Amino acid sequence: MLAEAHALLKRIFGYTSFRGGQEKVVESLLSQADTLAIMPTGAGKSLCYQIPALLFPGVTLVISPLIALMKDQVDALGELGIPATFINSSLRAAEIRQRLQDTVDGRYKLVYVAPERLQADSFAELIPALNISFIAVDEAHCVSQWGHDFRPSYRKIAAFISSLPRRPVIGAFTATATPEIKADIIKLLGLSLPQVYVTGFDRHNLSFSVLRGVNKQEFVLDYLQASSGRAGIIYAATRKDVDKLAEMLQKYKIPVSKYHAGMREAERAENQEAFLRDDLPVMVATNAFGMGIDKSNVRFVIHYSLPKNIEAYYQEAGRAGRDGEPGECILLYHPQDIILQKYLIEQTVYSPRRRQHEFSKLQAVADYCHTSKCLRQTLLAYFGEESADNCGNCSNCRDDSETIDVTLEAQKVLSCVYRLQERYGATLVAQVLKGAKNKKIRQLKLDRLSTYALMPEHSLQEIRDFIGFLIAEGYLRPTEGRYPLVKLGPKAAAVIKGKQRVLRKVQVQKTVEEDGLFEKLRQLRKEIADRENLPPYLIFSDATLRQMCEIRPSDQSSLLRVSGVGEVKLAKYGKEFLAVICSHR
Ligand code: ADP
Ligand code: MG
Repeated sequence: MLAEAHALLKRIFGYTSFRGGQEKVVESLLSQADTLAIMPTGAGKSLCYQIPALLFPGVTLVISPLIALMKDQVDALGELGIPATFINSSLRAAEIRQRLQDTVDGRYKLVYVAPERLQADSFAELIPALNISFIAVDEAHCVSQWGHDFRPSYRKIAAFISSLPRRPVIGAFTATATPEIKADIIKLLGLSLPQVYVTGFDRHNLSFSVLRGVNKQEFVLDYLQASSGRAGIIYAATRKDVDKLAEMLQKYKIPVSKYHAGMREAERAENQEAFLRDDLPVMVATNAFGMGIDKSNVRFVIHYSLPKNIEAYYQEAGRAGRDGEPGECILLYHPQDIILQKYLIEQTVYSPRRRQHEFSKLQAVADYCHTSKCLRQTLLAYFGEESADNCGNCSNCRDDSETIDVTLEAQKVLSCVYRLQERYGATLVAQVLKGAKNKKIRQLKLDRLSTYALMPEHSLQEIRDFIGFLIAEGYLRPTEGRYPLVKLGPKAAAVIKGKQRVLRKVQVQKTVEEDGLFEKLRQLRKEIADRENLPPYLIFSDATLRQMCEIRPSDQSSLLRVSGVGEVKLAKYGKEFLAVICSHR
């Protein structure tokens, strides 16, 4: 049978070989085993059930959550010469009857149905007459409440299957692989002794970037102006954000379309079509858009605001580059987004336990935004995949970032958390370090702590951001809940005791006008580094040198204000740098 599968792959689909994982899944299904295939978006799940469907006798039911896309899928199969149809509420009763009759008459190999349809009487009546040999449940994570696309009607699938006179082979397909969801799929769909295949989650052709602290509107505008004509999706958190952003872009004559659940169905369908056809190649949308869209030439996915968890992020970002060509996945991060997402979780009807769960998933997104490790590795690790090498192709790996030594700053933050007895959240910790003078600090007498005002040269935002970084790297640990407290993490002790260095990757800032000072400072840094037998970035970062060029400090106290210059480094290197800056004048 597998040889026949290969032949069909070549002949009908025109592909020379299976992609990673596809062959095993097809083979498993052909051996009549219930099969759960967990493969990332764009990996090619459809083929994994379409090929067996062609080889099995009788008909295959494909259960799919999205009525709006069934027609496209069926049309695509039609283009390949595969007899397929769909049955859903978009059709009139007479049409449904006709299609059901044709199905009974064996005219179709694949029939796409919405899960609601399974309960319809008209459908149930015909079941005895149908020879169903295979049921493919697409987007199977919809059965799980833990997923981000829960559909109650998916819960009826198992009962439907057991009502069949003969049990068909069941295949379940999803891109979402957390242990809870996996267990739910197996249990709630009633898979029997399933073969589970998890394909590598890596998508080599995608590059990942996190941009912190950029002006989002400007960024998107610049990006789109530079990428004229390329197809892409921009995800925003709320309907209002989508409307505002789309309107702004349209003003600048950027051909964008938009999509969210608050729009009329007809308008949504029209916009989706314009996007799919590249008439309006950029789609601004909420996360309501995208499931089942298999437009393969999406070149970029920008997250204008924070996704609510890593699963959702990877699925949404994964809509770029289905064709295997390069795709850019850019996440624009602003700390305010966390607050919005927390609010959205608060607004749900979830149980307290479930909310905790959602908060901790959101924390993983925050960690992703703050980590200085390879972003691809971070994502893959989240899905339980080890990868030894840095990818060299994410915003943390590429050389537009550099590594700086932040051990001293880390020690300040960690000791402050310790002094605060791990009883406060990140904002208050930052305020104490900054030396803020608000009522709460006075009331709690926190201004008497030895760690009060240890970091006056940094802005509150910088300190908060830095705390986020320390959390992401495991030096600090947040408790769960909407107002998490900051506690010391497993790696904190070694840093406080001076046994471990803390290094941080930072994006290189764009240079301001150059008059040669930067070069001189770099040279000095190199001399010192050679003398001390250290890499230059451990002396001062490029960012620090750049700020020196901007501020042009003339004495020790103004040099101390430059970000990256602390007491120790001031004492060690201050004089030499000041000398160069002064002589440059
Ligand atoms: P998924 O459902 O896993 O997100 P799709 O089934 O929509 O992915 O497939 C994504 C794209 O990959 C489609 O354009 C499909 O034609 C293409 N594709 C699938 N399998 C192969 C293959 N073996 N070789 C080349 N292209 C493939
Ligand atoms: Mg799919």
